[in-house]
Amino acid sequence: MYDVVIVGGGPAGLTAGIYAARARLETAILERLMPGGQAAVTDYIENYPGYPEGVAGHELVARMQEQAEKFGCQIRSDEVEAVDLGKRTVITGSESYLWKALIIATGADPRTLDVPGCAALKGRGISFCATCDGALFSGRHVAVVGGGDSAVKEAMYLTKFASEVFVIHRRDKLRAEGIIQEKAFNNEKITFVWDSIVTEIKGNQQVEGVHIKNVKTGEGKDLAVSGVFVYIGRIPNTAMVNVEKDKAGYIITDSDMRTSVEGVFAAGDCRSKEHRQVATAVGDGAAAAMSAEEYIAGF
Ligand code: NAP
Repeated sequence: MYDVVIVGGGPAGLTAGIYAARARLETAILERLMPGGQAAVTDYIENYPGYPEGVAGHELVARMQEQAEKFGCQIRSDEVEAVDLGKRTVITGSESYLWKALIIATGADPRTLDVPGCAALKGRGISFCATCDGALFSGRHVAVVGGGDSAVKEAMYLTKFASEVFVIHRRDKLRAEGIIQEKAFNNEKITFVWDSIVTEIKGNQQVEGVHIKNVKTGEGKDLAVSGVFVYIGRIPNTAMVNVEKDKAGYIITDSDMRTSVEGVFAAGDCRSKEHRQVATAVGDGAAAAMSAEEYIAGF
């Protein structure tokens, strides 16, 4: 029996772990992969307060993990298979964890492109992580699909390796924030391909190109690239928990991170909200842990 079980070890979960463990609550974070979540594979974070010179994502989350463990938070490598709200139990492949309060901080996974060639060539030139795979494309041409912060930031990162980066976006305006756009427009290695969607990813053993279609003119053409990096948004990892969610599957909470089920809280990117940043995830995690502490006090 734990006071607090936190599912997910990204910035929201790690911050909840710091606050809960520091409040002397018996706390465990269950993380299916390495702690750190999406932030851990973000090359450089320039807008996290306290780091005017920027900080590597993996370094920031390693410090958060160290801080959580310093206060006694247990971080377990265990994939959650089910959450039994009635029995207050989280079930993994090997164990059952009983909780007094549960914090869901499971984040969201990358959305994939639903076009011919995508499933077959995943890992053979199609990637969802420039930080992980960018160096494999040294001197090559690559495509990035999407027009949000992730697509544009990662396109810039890829210019460290690739000789040319095509950013293929379905509209003629980026969703990415202004300062990120400005930097990308000034980067000579980036070519924007506007109003276009990828209709096929081509290649036998490895990606050899993409077929794109201009959504305004209907015109189609091939683009020779060795890699395709897909950044077209995310899908929340919330299927395992039966609390109230919005249409897209994000968990609905009040401003103190309480879900529709008593004693169950949600924090970070898996929560229904407008802004998804490391700084907002950290705020959610702190609030969720403090709400959990209040809840347990009346247990
Ligand atoms: P996002 O903001 O949802 O952007 C997704 C992009 O993919 C949009 O440009 C969208 O086009 C496009 N798209 C969606 N479905 C598509 C499809 N089927 N085919 C082609 N294009 C498609 O996702 P994100 O960039 O992953 O960012 C997620 C959150 O993290 C955001 O809140 C973002 O601000 C935050 N973030 C922040 C930073 C930072 O450094 N500040 C870095 C990364 C992420 P439309 O624009 O036409 O909808």
